[in-house]
Amino acid sequence: MQEATKEKFDYIVDRFADLEILRYQVPGFESLPLRQKQLIYHLSEAALKGRDILFDQNCRYNLCIRRVLEAIYKSYPAEQRQDPEFVALETYLKRVWFANGIHHHYAEDKFTPGFSPEFFKAATRQLASTEVPVRPGQSVDDFLEEICPVMFDPTVLPKRTSRVEGQDWIQSSANNYYGEGLTQEEVETFYARMKANDDEAHPRSFGLNSRLVKEKDGTIREKVWKVDGLYSQAIEAIVEELEKAIPFAENEAQKTIIQTLIAYYRSGDLKQFDDYSIRWVEDTTSEVDFINGFIETYGDPLGRKASWEATVNYINKVATQRTKLISDHAQWFEDHSPVDDRFKKKQVKGVSAKVITVAMLGGDCYPSTPIGINLPNADWIRRDFGSKSVTIENITEAYDQAARGNGFRKEFVWSDEECQLIERYGYLTDNLHTDLHECLGHGSGQLLPGTDPDALKSYGSTLEEARADLFGLYYLADPKLVELGLLPDKEAYKAEYYKYLMNGLMTQLVRIEKGKDIEEAHMRDRQLIARWVYEHGKAEQVVEIRQKEGKSYVVIHHYERLRDLFAQLLAEVQRIKSEGDLEAGQRLVETYGVKVDPLLHKEVLARYESLRLAPYKGFVNPIMREIRNERGEVIDIRLDYTESYVDQMLRYSRDYSFLNIYND
Ligand code: ZN
Repeated sequence: MQEATKEKFDYIVDRFADLEILRYQVPGFESLPLRQKQLIYHLSEAALKGRDILFDQNCRYNLCIRRVLEAIYKSYPAEQRQDPEFVALETYLKRVWFANGIHHHYAEDKFTPGFSPEFFKAATRQLASTEVPVRPGQSVDDFLEEICPVMFDPTVLPKRTSRVEGQDWIQSSANNYYGEGLTQEEVETFYARMKANDDEAHPRSFGLNSRLVKEKDGTIREKVWKVDGLYSQAIEAIVEELEKAIPFAENEAQKTIIQTLIAYYRSGDLKQFDDYSIRWVEDTTSEVDFINGFIETYGDPLGRKASWEATVNYINKVATQRTKLISDHAQWFEDHSPVDDRFKKKQVKGVSAKVITVAMLGGDCYPSTPIGINLPNADWIRRDFGSKSVTIENITEAYDQAARGNGFRKEFVWSDEECQLIERYGYLTDNLHTDLHECLGHGSGQLLPGTDPDALKSYGSTLEEARADLFGLYYLADPKLVELGLLPDKEAYKAEYYKYLMNGLMTQLVRIEKGKDIEEAHMRDRQLIARWVYEHGKAEQVVEIRQKEGKSYVVIHHYERLRDLFAQLLAEVQRIKSEGDLEAGQRLVETYGVKVDPLLHKEVLARYESLRLAPYKGFVNPIMREIRNERGEVIDIRLDYTESYVDQMLRYSRDYSFLNIYND
């Protein structure tokens, strides 16, 4: 029965620019108890209500641009919708929806409209005056004057988050985390002062939930995102929905978690956020779980301000057996890892790992979404209370299903032998690698006494990802996994080894524009590992990049030696982290992780282009509806998988827009 629905289910929804929109299934939802479904329903509504916050965080013009484009899109005459300028506007709007703004969701560069300013101006002037999102007292002409450079001039607000060495990161970033006129130095001084007066053992995440602004008189202060603060209208709507969820909480602990989150949304007090995070990480028994708030700080060049995100999920009990088995043996894995004993944890704790089914994605998890999550982020909470690590299996499943038969493997994999290996084990070993990375890798190892946790500076995140990846790669080939029943046989790991090297040496380059280097931490990590083992195994020909009919392929000759190389590199990366050896860390990343081989890059781009595939993917959510009887009582919650990407985005803009066009 499972197989039959899989075949019928339409995973691919839309395709434009460099993006493909997929749909995920929510298996098992129908058979959940009504009470859990209602809990999920209200948490899901809360997950959608913060959508505008993220748009505004990403750039202060995003809401205004989205709204004017939507107004044009909805009212444009039917007979002219084939006009190339309009088609280009449609694509641009789809991209704005996807990126939650005018900058690429991954590369962070502003993307350029394919239509002309003249077309945009004429179309805007056609709108009813109430449809144009002008500032109070602003004329439509003045509005266009203000907005056109933002949309069309590539030199205006070119980068959402800028981390170019030698530039002021705050002034050169287009995001809305810092008000106008602030310099990086002012921001750093402001937070250094706050930090100086903090409780050292339990430091608060200063800056996490606010915009920092400079007043006309030069005073610098935070505008906190909370009820009665900045973004109040959206946060009030979220709170209202969270309150509706409380009666359906599974237990007292979960009820308190929701209440603490509400209290924090009302007060903006970061102590309360820590309190919430501790309760959240300690709750490992509730079957339904959720994230809703200001969590990840990737979008702030200084790593302080968090974007708003939300997910709602419930446990996948069958698959969780797998991660439970892994975390039950966490100490064994720690003890047997190939790193120096001084860098090993004597006692591994707090590894709670589960596999989940996601039912709703919102904010910074939508439409582009992570496949694994490991929270909370505060180091001291992780140290004292552990962390929760999850793999989102219905998302990885959708990726896997959508990728079948798209020609990618045929183009890039060396021979049928590797293809069959991947076909047979690839999905399993991929998931297992994610599990090992998330629930063991990040939690493994320890710093030597006196090592500053920030010693590796801007190389820290790449090296941390490399450490977690290497831990997973090393153990994938361990007989222990077969012994535990996690892998069917001794061949399976080869599927992941092959995929990992092919990706790290070649195919991930499809995400990099011609002439550019690798910037993103996970991508640097993967190339670092792949190139390092390639170079260090050269004498023995462990891994080869071989030519066939003018095309390059990865060929692995010695899988077992490859594992030894992973072990060596893991030991070195752990040493760098444990000792805080910045110089060695920098050398490793700069030598192997950053620079791209221009010839190989060119070739990979051309081959990929010929497949006409999208390098980035995202998801539409199911529609979730309350079903009521004649007396108005809720008798069921049903999911509907028929909505198109455009319809979903327009519906969200209609039903979940709570903020003003500009939020000061
Ligand atoms: Zn990671």
